[in-house]
Amino acid sequence: MVQAVVGANWGDEGKGKVTDMLADQSDIVVRFQGGANAGHTIINEYGRFSLHLLPSGVFHKQVINVIGPGVALNIEALEKELNGLKEQGVPQPQLLISDRCQVLMPYHVDFDRFEEERLGKQSFGSTKSGIAPFYSDKFAKVGIQVCQLYDEAILRERLAIALVKKNCLLEHLYHKPTIDLDEMVHIMMEYGARIKPYVADTTRFLMDADQKGKKILLEGQLGTLRDPDHGIYPYTTSSSPLAGFGCVGAGIPPTSLKKIFAVTKAYSSAVGAGPFVSEIHGDEAKKLRDRGGDRGEYGATTGRPRSVGWFDCVASRYGVMVQGATEVVLTNLDVLGYLDAIPVCVAYETDDGQVLNSFPSTPTLMHCKPVLETLPGWKCDIRGIKSYKDLPEECKAYVDFLERAVGAPIHMVSNGPRREDMLYR
Ligand code: GDP
Repeated sequence: MVQAVVGANWGDEGKGKVTDMLADQSDIVVRFQGGANAGHTIINEYGRFSLHLLPSGVFHKQVINVIGPGVALNIEALEKELNGLKEQGVPQPQLLISDRCQVLMPYHVDFDRFEEERLGKQSFGSTKSGIAPFYSDKFAKVGIQVCQLYDEAILRERLAIALVKKNCLLEHLYHKPTIDLDEMVHIMMEYGARIKPYVADTTRFLMDADQKGKKILLEGQLGTLRDPDHGIYPYTTSSSPLAGFGCVGAGIPPTSLKKIFAVTKAYSSAVGAGPFVSEIHGDEAKKLRDRGGDRGEYGATTGRPRSVGWFDCVASRYGVMVQGATEVVLTNLDVLGYLDAIPVCVAYETDDGQVLNSFPSTPTLMHCKPVLETLPGWKCDIRGIKSYKDLPEECKAYVDFLERAVGAPIHMVSNGPRREDMLYR
């Protein structure tokens, strides 16, 4: 049976915690897209972790963790994460890397930085971890697959083709030093040797596991609104964070995907550029930002302050719909305990006074203002409460309201960052 944990919004919804929890009942956890550009925060018996590339099943001894072909594999970042786990006393996880996965090259990181510098104020808020140049190369068919690291002649030929273009851009567009072919071949072969013990035909492995009825969990990064097709293009990421793509990026038949958990926060947060209709500013924002998450709303990978705002019913309903969520997991409900009254964005209003209930494409979105409705706050700390029924009435009413708004059932509500802070409704 295959299930997926994905984000309903802009990312940072608390997916890492939910995956870590669900991994406990899984045989296999798979990362299917993205790379080391975003982070999942996980707090468990070993400590606090920011996972970027490793699947969140790495804390569970029985789980086989898979990096699927859809992922941007930054080998150095992967090794750093594996070492970090070891240093914090986590037993060596079981890990498989798809031989079809493509390698994020050192020059992808450089190109990301050079391009953001070139764009200046018009940049898209890249995390500068090489993701956009990586996926551009993948689809332009000048990328390098893991399996190509083990044949020097093929690697050299592939790199020679790629480097002609790269060096032309470096010299004439960015005015930076060019890349030496021999040196790059050497670096990549060394990287290949280091990850060799993990490399496998994960497509075959997952298909067989699925046939045998193993429990497989697909772990998404970012959220619906960062999808290159369905999100707020161009303020999107470069691979699809949708559960539907999970089957492709992992290598699983789409008919095997039975449950889709779309995670959303009880308020909104976004890191990076792009329209954000329910965003709040100034002191009001600072109060929410400093209370959000486990250490305030600051990016797990970049440390950048996240933009924050009220729960956005329009964006979340859309996010849940596009994910095809069978249920929604609501996180960070405890964060709102300081408010007397809680505004919720229930619709958008355009410049010409039109009221929108469905999420529009980016140019319209840029001109939308939030239509707010205010719900009563519960004015207390709900952390530590163990049973859903013991929540304050106002708090339960808030969850009921959100459930009606997003159009999918909410069975799990998170009232704190730790693994055990989860209420079942
Ligand atoms: P992800 O990328 O979707 O996994 O999300 P992040 O890890 O980037 O951000 C989620 C933040 O919320 C992290 O700081 C988590 O520790 C924190 N978190 C998750 N669930 C809860 C919760 O219910 N309450 C609080 N206060 N923090 C939570």
